[in-house]
Amino acid sequence: MLVDSHCHLDFPDLAPRLPEILENMQRNDVGCAVCIAVNLEELPRVLALAETHQNLYATVGVHPEYTDTEEPSEQRLIDLANHAIGETGLDYYWHKDRPEWQRDRFRCHIRAAIKIGKPLVVHMRGSAEDTLRILAEEGAQAVGGVMHCFTETWDVARQALDLGFHISFSGIVTFKNATAIKEAATNTPLNRILVETDSPYLAPSPYRGKQNEPAYVRHVAEEIGRLRNLSLDEISKATTANFFNLFKHAVQPT
Ligand SMILES: [Zn+2]
Ligand SMILES: [Zn+2]
Repeated sequence: MLVDSHCHLDFPDLAPRLPEILENMQRNDVGCAVCIAVNLEELPRVLALAETHQNLYATVGVHPEYTDTEEPSEQRLIDLANHAIGETGLDYYWHKDRPEWQRDRFRCHIRAAIKIGKPLVVHMRGSAEDTLRILAEEGAQAVGGVMHCFTETWDVARQALDLGFHISFSGIVTFKNATAIKEAATNTPLNRILVETDSPYLAPSPYRGKQNEPAYVRHVAEEIGRLRNLSLDEISKATTANFFNLFKHAVQPT
């Protein structure tokens, strides 16, 4: 069984297709998926998905890309928290001016996660240096978490691993020209790897450019298996065990 550690099933592209999405997951042996919150306004829909489905989990957080949105306080995150805190982090791709509020918001999420002992889901885009520095400064090693949709080099992966974080690979690892990401996926210790889709975005080959969904996480796992000379079964077992080790509050469906 595989776990999609990062998807957005509440997004308008995917929400109306939920029954079909769940069926496709089952058919591809994708047993569970984590619905990731991006702001507080849409959070009730994310939490409702986890409350009504045994095999869907939810996180609580405000994405670093959102400007015109309710700013969460540490206490609010703690009160709302479900299985993990996030997604949070720094996005210097969409915000090239590297605004201070992103770092403040990020620190707020890390502090909340540490207080309640739940893992962090970290979004890092064009921001590796600051992201790793702030995680270290705030003592995020205490809870760890996942560097989601990893698109950096092996060197950056190694620094995140040193901080106690897991590395989650998305469909990007299946793209032909993703040499550095393939290298990171080859070198990351097997007991620290997760897989994800980040659906509806970033569909893996052979669906590149189309709408993504959790069932396709299988293609991500297959590619990592190919890179490491391991079977899909071995990758599934390892990444699923890693997931439940990290997301201690997520109960594996029976
Ligand atoms: Zn993200
Ligand atoms: Zn996301």
